Parts: sequence; C-alpha cells; structure tokens
Amino acid sequence: MTLFSQDFVYEKFSDFYNSSSTEISPPALIGQREFAFLLFKERIMVRHKGFANINDLKLLLGETVPSDVYHSCAYYENPETEMDKKGWLGADLVFDIDADHIPTSCNKIHDEWTCSKCGFSGKGITPETCPICEDQRFDTKTWPCELCLNSAKEETAKLIDMLEKDFGFSSKEMRVFFSGHRGYHVHIESEAVKTLDAMARKEIVDYVSGIGLAILDEEAKERSKGRSSHVFSLHDFSWNRRLKLGMQNFLLKATKEDLRNVGIKNYVAVLQNKEAILKRCLEEGRWNSVKGISVETWTKIAEHVKNLESAKIDTVVTTDIHRLIRLAGTLHGKTGLRKVEFPVKRLEDFDPFKEAVAFKEGVVKVFVSDAPEFRLGGNVFGPYKSQTVELPTAAAVLLICRGRAEVVVK
Ligand SMILES: [Zn+2]
Ligand SMILES: [Zn+2]
Repeated sequence: MTLFSQDFVYEKFSDFYNSSSTEISPPALIGQREFAFLLFKERIMVRHKGFANINDLKLLLGETVPSDVYHSCAYYENPETEMDKKGWLGADLVFDIDADHIPTSCNKIHDEWTCSKCGFSGKGITPETCPICEDQRFDTKTWPCELCLNSAKEETAKLIDMLEKDFGFSSKEMRVFFSGHRGYHVHIESEAVKTLDAMARKEIVDYVSGIGLAILDEEAKERSKGRSSHVFSLHDFSWNRRLKLGMQNFLLKATKEDLRNVGIKNYVAVLQNKEAILKRCLEEGRWNSVKGISVETWTKIAEHVKNLESAKIDTVVTTDIHRLIRLAGTLHGKTGLRKVEFPVKRLEDFDPFKEAVAFKEGVVKVFVSDAPEFRLGGNVFGPYKSQTVELPTAAAVLLICRGRAEVVVK
C-alpha cells in the first residue's frame, strides 16, 4: 500500500470513528474486559487496555483510529495488568466461522498462499505447514467472496441449530455477527458458560464438529455378527436425529454419482429400493431389511452425512479462554467493512455486502491491479485488471485494504 493510499484509508477510518452517528456495541461487563488495538501505521498491537464505559472507549477510538479493535472473550479482575496477574473470572463462549476453514469450490480461484520462508506458493486453502520446508508462516491473498460467505452462513446456521436444539440456548442468549471479512461470529455471554474451562469448551467443539462421534456400536456389531439390525439405534434427539434426517435427505436426492462418491459399490440396489430403504430402514429402524444394504453401506452413508451436518468452525477460537475477538461495530482493517450484529432469525436474509458497508459517501479514483467482480452496497463492480476507475469510497477502501488497488495521485 502506498503512503497516499494508507493516508486515504486512515482518513476514512478516522471520519468513521469520530462521527456521532457511529454505533459501537460493547460486550457485557465492559469494565472486566481487556481491549487491544492494531495501530494503522506502526502495525503494532497495543494490548491490555481497560475501559470503565463505552464513552471512554469511543474517545480513544476517535483519537487513536486503529485499523482493528478487539476485546477479550474473558472477564478479568484487572484487565490492564499482565496476563498472569489479570485474575480470570470467566469467558464468553465464542464461535468463529470463517471461509478460510471451509473447503469451497471457489477458493482455488481467488485464494493464494506463499510460504514466508521458502516462497513456495499455491492456490486454495492455506496448508498448516509448507509442503516444501514445513514452515508455518504464510502470506495469504484471499477475497471476501459471495459464495464463500454463503458457505460460511450455512455453517453458521448448522451451528445455531445445534446450540438451540441440542444445547438448549435460546435465541436471546446467542449474539450473531458478520465478522467484517470472510465469516460470522456467534457469542454466548450467559452465566451458564462463563466458567467452562478449555477442556469443557473442547467437548463442545468436538460435538458441533462431529469429532469422535461413534456411528457404529462396535459391540453390537460383534454380537449381531455383521447384521445391521442392532448396530444403529437412531432416536429423535441430538446427533441421532441429525444423522437420521440427514440420511433421509441424502437418500431422497441421491444419484448414482452421489452414491459412488460416498464409496457405495452396490448403488444399483440402493437406487432400486429407495422407497423401501427410506420407509423400512430409516423410519422403522429395520436396518437389514433390504437385501444388499449392509452395515458397510449404512456406515458409509452415515459418515458422509456426518460431514454434511457438522458445523465447520475454527476450533482454536472456541477453546481459547483468553481469546481476543473483534469488537462489534468496528471496522475490519482488511476490508473497511464493519463487524455487525443482527438477530439470529435474520441469518438467512442478512446481506453482508449491504449491511456491513461503513462508508456511504464520496468517490475516489483508484488504479486497480487485479480484482474479481464483486457486489457492494447494491452495486456490482469489476472485474478489473490494471486499470484506473472512479469508485465509491467503500469499494475503493475494500480494494486498497485487500492490496488490489492504490489511490491515484492527482
Ligand atoms: Zn516453505
Ligand atoms: Zn469464494
């Protein structure tokens, strides 16, 4: 980013944080939270800040104009002291659903990674370690793409359904946010979760991810000598219900290709007996009542459905009881979009490319090196390749923050 572009973005962020109409929604018990800011020009993270109230916090945001603002999920006795002296009192239960962790078909088109050590690069999801030198640091080039955000939304819907139906959280207890970049956050601030330790949070992560879910009762399999009548007993609650409904859905729509992709060799038997399988096996639980549909077939279908039904969350975020998370209402330094809250029931209709737009006035001339077609604030832009265009502020800020455009100096 050129200095000129950086000044332009900084100025827009400054107008935003100094405007009386900007609403920042603080987390519960603001006085017990640690706050952190990433500074624009210095690119340093300032941590261990505390605020007694939202007005003090707003004043600081207006003066400092950070590129990113975070608060602790945790509650502390002394949020401003060093970590081991803070006095941990509890933490919200937080989920992060990010397109970075969801295998979408489009990430191979718009995502690139380059190993910081050896320079090896590739397309798609960034690997954990470099396949050449095993380093774990990468420069990544991603894009807040519409398809990716829709996938993230679907994962969020699955998560919320589990939190509601399986864990019993009410929609009032769950706060849902667009992250400002490539995903969604779900925060639960209720007393019931506050003092859960990292291990307990890991159990919740495993549950929603379907990790360690035993699909087959191995002992029953042994007893029944491979006959499938006793090995599945799917009742109407929790993962059992999810598997049952998921298998019904899958089988209803399954084509020859779908079945082959799941690894089912006798797909002809499945396709010919669809109705009987749905009724006798899934509805009545007579799993081995259709000839040719074995324990192996059921296990393969169930494994596939487990993957479809599990929620793809960033597991590290939920288990970290000291985690910093972006403050609602503030701007994301990689997009200039806001982290915005919306009611759980609006998840399906929520449009991040309209509702998270922060900059609504002005135009600016930019040179765009490379940008895919994108939609923002009700308009469609691009694709652009090495060209100068005049764009509304929000679109220009997005491209500059993604490293794809620079302000044209007059
Ligand atoms: Zn490498
Ligand atoms: Zn995408």
